[in-house]
Amino acid sequence: MYNACIIGAFVIVYLFIGDNDKLFFWLLIIIILFIFSFALNVGMHKEIHKKRMIENALKQSEALYRGVINNAAAGIALLNQDGHYHYVNATLCQMTGFSQEELKRLTLFDSIVPEERQESVMHCREVWEGKDAWKKCEKQFRCKDGQSLWAEINLSTVCDSGDNVIHLIMIVLDITVRKKLEKELLYQATTDFLTGIDNRLAFMQKAQEEFSRSERYKRNFTMLLIDIDKFKSVNDQYGHLVGDRVLKEVVKAFKLVLREMDVLARIGGEEFAVIPVESDLMMAQTVAERIQQKVLDVVVEMENTEKIQVSVSIGIAEKKELDLGVDDIFKRADDALYEAKNTGRNRIVVGNELVEDIGVCNGNP
Ligand code: GH3
Ligand code: MG
Ligand code: MG
Repeated sequence: MYNACIIGAFVIVYLFIGDNDKLFFWLLIIIILFIFSFALNVGMHKEIHKKRMIENALKQSEALYRGVINNAAAGIALLNQDGHYHYVNATLCQMTGFSQEELKRLTLFDSIVPEERQESVMHCREVWEGKDAWKKCEKQFRCKDGQSLWAEINLSTVCDSGDNVIHLIMIVLDITVRKKLEKELLYQATTDFLTGIDNRLAFMQKAQEEFSRSERYKRNFTMLLIDIDKFKSVNDQYGHLVGDRVLKEVVKAFKLVLREMDVLARIGGEEFAVIPVESDLMMAQTVAERIQQKVLDVVVEMENTEKIQVSVSIGIAEKKELDLGVDDIFKRADDALYEAKNTGRNRIVVGNELVEDIGVCNGNP
């Protein structure tokens, strides 16, 4: 093309000027212009090529980055200062069931369960304002289908070149399975598998909580320790499985007397503990009497029409001013139970004081 231009220019000059000296002069000018323009053109081409290369590299890296973000196992979102979603990846959409457009119309606080919103607003503010460099918390998302999704959330900031915060970046991990397992483990660790009521561990924790509450609010605190009388003979006579049936029926009898809020636990083989929440000694005694009677009413029928009945001995203790902890009350209730056993069974004893003796039940002396 450049050759064509130079020949064209030469012909034009020759035709219009016709003078050989001038022709040479103009020819020189044209050649210089040509060289100059050629150099300029080559430079421009190089520049354009370089720019295209950079653009392609940028496009490729953006595609890569989008691919990585969208296919990440974690949900990723950029949040504005008011909590609105600025960007959400495909994983977060899959997790919540919302489309990108739907999420972008919401704030983070709209998409989590109401009871956790206030805390989330606080967390976002603290990270945005730099009080915390990042925040890790567990939240429940509300999915589009109404289900909730347990998630571990990591919040940190995204800044511009001037170090001004422009977004919060939120990484969301689905921990629903872990939460279910934790719940299951907690249930297994704190529940008596035979009767479904609390076990000793759960009882000691709840007793501690109740004790602290009673200290704080100056409320009554009483405890009942209950032991089935001569239970070994039930096992010996009818077998372990029948003994298990009796244990379950006895627990049902306890539940008929107790309120939902009361603490009931199986703390040993045939030993139980009760905290009739915020009850004084009089009320605790009434509860004990009703339990004693309800257990006497329990009749476990055998296939051969034989009937099994059992009785319980109960020790009661109330919190006294000098008590330092639950153990002090537990010890007094245990001593009282020991006394009830030693003085004939099927009895209720408060501290060292015998409050009731309704006799021996159904051949269980
Ligand atoms: P006491 O009136 O002095 O309390 O006599 P007891 O026979 O009830 O007490 P002892 O401690 O001698 O026996 C408790 C029995 O409870 C022994 C054990 O076989 C039985 N037991 C403990 N756990 C279970 C259980 O899970 N199932 C059954 N069937 N029996 C159990
Ligand atoms: Mg016993
Ligand atoms: Mg016992």
